[in-house]
Amino acid sequence: MKIKYQVPTIYEKLLPNDILQIDLIETKATCNSCPVYAADLKCCTFHPYLPNFTIGALLSQPDLGSEVAISVIRSKIKNREYSLPLGLVAPPSYQITFNQRKKNEFGWRKDWLCPYFDPVHNNCGIWRWRGAVCTGFFCKSSFGAKGLRFWDELSNYLTYVEMALMEEALVMLDFSPRQVADLLGYLNRQVATKSELKSSQMSEKKARALWNGYYDNQEEFFKKTFQIVSGLDRKSYRELIGEPGQHLEKNLRKVFEKICPQ
Ligand code: SF4
Ligand code: SF4
Repeated sequence: MKIKYQVPTIYEKLLPNDILQIDLIETKATCNSCPVYAADLKCCTFHPYLPNFTIGALLSQPDLGSEVAISVIRSKIKNREYSLPLGLVAPPSYQITFNQRKKNEFGWRKDWLCPYFDPVHNNCGIWRWRGAVCTGFFCKSSFGAKGLRFWDELSNYLTYVEMALMEEALVMLDFSPRQVADLLGYLNRQVATKSELKSSQMSEKKARALWNGYYDNQEEFFKKTFQIVSGLDRKSYRELIGEPGQHLEKNLRKVFEKICPQ
């Protein structure tokens, strides 16, 4: 399936066309009946970060996700389960346990199952809007090591894109560089405070401080971030990603050319 159909729809008018048209057909990763991990968990024993504009898209058009996933998103916002202006993150206690995982935990621990997984259909409940890490994950590739390298590079590129778009939305909604830096501290945690380890909910005081005046209207805030990102065109996107983003695009093209020489 072309990359174009594997990434959030708003990327179609932002990412370079040649990248969107890449079509690597993977037949070895038979995800409908996962041969690697527990059949009802797959490689979804992972609580991913979802950027603000993704949440905004799913709340603006709930039919983009499964009913279960949308209700999880709403409940996380309502219950202060690490709903932050940068998006939804896994509670620090989860992040730390996951980052210190032992062999044979990934793919097998039911208590680690992604909250956006749809158990009724046994697949991702937000597939088209899943994050960069999920999009680039393949346990095996029909193109061997080169194929796996391609998916890694795609994941690196999409992670960069997510961060650039998420931060652009925050800047447009008056978050200072310092406030953005404080929020970034909630991603990929290796340490946590005692109170963070004790509960998967934030205190209202802490959450209010991080929300910069938007605390009482988080759903509307997320929808606004989606509108901001939707309003970008290719030219402003290229300026936004700058040289580092363009360098990642070059890397991706190079890896692809090794699989499919032009
Ligand atoms: S990519 Fe994930 S779901 Fe698909 S076959 Fe591999 S481990 Fe299973
Ligand atoms: S977002 Fe989707 S693909 Fe990613 S871990 Fe969750 S259920 Fe799996």
